[in-house]
Amino acid sequence: MNDPLPSHTGAVVIGGGIMGCSTLYHLTKLGVREPILLERKQLTCGTTWHSAAQVRQLRSTNNLTQLIRYSTELYATLEQETGQSTGWVRTGSLSIATNAERLTHIRRQASLAKVFGVETHELSPAQAAELWPMMRSDDVVGAVYSPDDGRVNPSDLCAALIKGAKSHGARVFEDTPVTGFRIRDDRVCGVDTARGHVACEIVVNCAGLWGRQVAAMAGVSVPLFACEHFYLLTKPMQGIGRHLPTLSDHDGYLYIRDEVDGILAGCFEPHARALPLENLPRDFAFELLDEDWEHFEPMMVNAMHRIPALEHAEVKMLVNGPESFTPDGAFLLGEAPELAGFYVGCGMNSVGVASGGGAGRALAEWIVEGAPTSDLWSVDIRRFAPFHANERFLRARIPEALALHYAIAYPGREPHTARGLRKSALHDRLAEAGAQFGTRMGWERAAWFAEDGDALPAALKFGRPAWFDAEARESRAARERVALFDQSSFAKLLVDGRDAQSLLQRLCANDVDVMPGRIVYTAMLNERGGFESDLTVFRISRDRYLLVTGTAQAVRDRHWLETHLSPRERVCIVDVTGSLAVLSVMGPLSRRLLQELTSEDLGNGAFALFTSREIALATASVTAARLSYAGELGWELYVPVEMAVAVYDALMEIGSAFGLRNAGTHALTSLRIEKGLRAWGHEVTPDDTPLEAGLAFATKLASDVPFIGRDALLEQRARGLRRRLVHFRLADPQVFILGDEPIVCDGELVGQVTSAAFGHTLGTGVGMGYVRHGDRPLRAMVECGRFEVELAGHMHAIDVSLSPLFDPSGARMRVQT
Ligand SMILES: Cc1cc2nc3c(=O)[nH]c(=O)nc-3n(C[C@H](O)[C@H](O)[C@H](O)COP(=O)(O)OP(=O)(O)OC[C@H]3O[C@@H](n4cnc5c(N)ncnc54)[C@H](O)[C@@H]3O)c2cc1C
Repeated sequence: MNDPLPSHTGAVVIGGGIMGCSTLYHLTKLGVREPILLERKQLTCGTTWHSAAQVRQLRSTNNLTQLIRYSTELYATLEQETGQSTGWVRTGSLSIATNAERLTHIRRQASLAKVFGVETHELSPAQAAELWPMMRSDDVVGAVYSPDDGRVNPSDLCAALIKGAKSHGARVFEDTPVTGFRIRDDRVCGVDTARGHVACEIVVNCAGLWGRQVAAMAGVSVPLFACEHFYLLTKPMQGIGRHLPTLSDHDGYLYIRDEVDGILAGCFEPHARALPLENLPRDFAFELLDEDWEHFEPMMVNAMHRIPALEHAEVKMLVNGPESFTPDGAFLLGEAPELAGFYVGCGMNSVGVASGGGAGRALAEWIVEGAPTSDLWSVDIRRFAPFHANERFLRARIPEALALHYAIAYPGREPHTARGLRKSALHDRLAEAGAQFGTRMGWERAAWFAEDGDALPAALKFGRPAWFDAEARESRAARERVALFDQSSFAKLLVDGRDAQSLLQRLCANDVDVMPGRIVYTAMLNERGGFESDLTVFRISRDRYLLVTGTAQAVRDRHWLETHLSPRERVCIVDVTGSLAVLSVMGPLSRRLLQELTSEDLGNGAFALFTSREIALATASVTAARLSYAGELGWELYVPVEMAVAVYDALMEIGSAFGLRNAGTHALTSLRIEKGLRAWGHEVTPDDTPLEAGLAFATKLASDVPFIGRDALLEQRARGLRRRLVHFRLADPQVFILGDEPIVCDGELVGQVTSAAFGHTLGTGVGMGYVRHGDRPLRAMVECGRFEVELAGHMHAIDVSLSPLFDPSGARMRVQT
């Protein structure tokens, strides 16, 4: 029998799966008093109870890997703390490759593991076979072994977390479905349940595959959708060992391990099936979906190929359980931008048990601190916009997210489903010109332009990309003549009102108290001095600014601004992204080209770098901004969308005499890396400061104007830097790196690449990355050190520099003629 619900509590966690249990546990650990957990049925009854519960540490980013590392430590030690076993067994994991491309993929992962501190060893096929004697290995070309991975019993794990949480004052209420929310002054202030109302300050939505519907009751969009998810269980088989490493045969879409003297073989199949919630009974608990042998058959064939003994094994069952997935295959964490106090921790993409310990701690810290304590952008709910929770969008995209779980991480991979939602005004013109589109934040963006002779669709591969020649053509146009980039997807926020300047002075590291018409390159920093955003701020008039930021950052940056607005401040923040197209005309001939279409003087004296103004151009009126993300003379033209095609046509017509060429995001990335221009999420993240990034010039530290992050920067400057962004080029132009490789100096691992591309002007691979120099003088290290990057296990020499490799003085952007 349940106790009566409290009338009020600080924090309510919804859902008793691994995410809810872990978040509750960590809230109590961080001193939150008497949080409660509400579960509609019984603890673990949703997805958690039937999880295969492998814990594999290596993820795509360091911080996500560290979350799982912490999970393994927690799962291994919870029994000592609580007396309840978690079933943790350190079995290791073994990834095999059956072709050269997969081998490159797993070797790249092994290189990454070194940066993240995860122990891995490359094994020969024979060594791999020794670890898994029942495995067929004659088609295996290589393997990587990680000894510290393991598995857990998911129900026992949750029981241990709950025991730990209860011992610190938490309470759990089963058979208590949440039915609604109370909201006051744009904050959540209570939950309604089938058993009454609880007032609270914080709600944490850990409702698993029900998370989207639970959030919708509060007007919050949570983009997740369930899929059917399968594994096969056999009865005991002769000769199977105990606690074998989990075998990842991703070419066969499979993971395989021992389970009670039998085999458990699970899959991430290429044709996954979405599961609409209406297909689940309302009281679904501790249940499974129907077995579907026809669907599983291709994976069964692959499993029997890998483990021939399976042919004679007796099948116990084919587990088909529901699990939630998200549009990009990464989970959802953080405060919902639509509603203060409403947090989410769901959409776990089949890594919920592995991630749960660390993700629950990260979420609890986020709640207690009011912000994440490290860079969690890749799982931050603010990377999505409300339209991503659209059911048709999700139904189309989500099976692809599951299917890509084991896909080789080729550069340039783009989803195929649910495309075409946000199109720039120029979209059809660019498509006619051969644009091959990628997608970001729902936008279709021209990645490169195909010409006759280019094979389409472009094959994905490691090494020299299929679009190499196109990227070279477009980069050369920008460096030698003029190129047009459609940058309409830039996020644009209008900040308007009496207190706009004081708000932005407080949030921006650089001085935004400038004359109207000036543009300021700046950062918005957190209290640790790390980049929450890097952006350009246009001062339009005394009380009005336009903030231009990355395509993916619209929701996040707006939320940052809004949460820092005090009730006394009179400021209106409007997202105007969709109403302004951005046509960037870049290259040494850009001035002469544009001058043909306007009578305004575009010379240096009349139109300085980092200024903007409205001009008549062709038959339209546009805001021209003298800026360049390509490192060239150029203007970004902010054009009302309804005039964009007319402006584009006029530019193309006049431009033909200047050799104007359409250019895409691949070329722009190459140009900006050559020029050493940083990108948010790569060189500048919440864990990097302007001092480390070499961007102190874009701060107002020299003045005494206060801003968020200033104290942390002053402290860091006084202490001295221990890591610094560097620029580099590869000695061998035949080597193609992708952007996350380890950096080694004199044989010692010192950092990681943050961005890389082929630099078509410099004629070799170029990149940026952070180097830890500790107490060593950085300059001496850069000048005397023997630097290399590790690519899929191979070392390649790089030349490192503290200044950009191309046009370090910026002369090309300031050119007179
Ligand atoms: C076949 C299969 C194999 C898997 N293998 C692995 C693996 O090897 N490793 C791994 O890490 N992960 C694995 N997973 C994924 C992992 O199990 C999930 O990511 C994880 O269990 C999800 O936990 P959760 O807490 O988010 O959701 P759930 O466990 O579903 O918990 C959500 C809870 O919320 C409750 N709830 C919903 N609505 C309400 C409401 N209105 N009021 C109150 N309560 C509500 C539900 O009843 C449920 O108990 C696997 C999943 C499947 C299906």
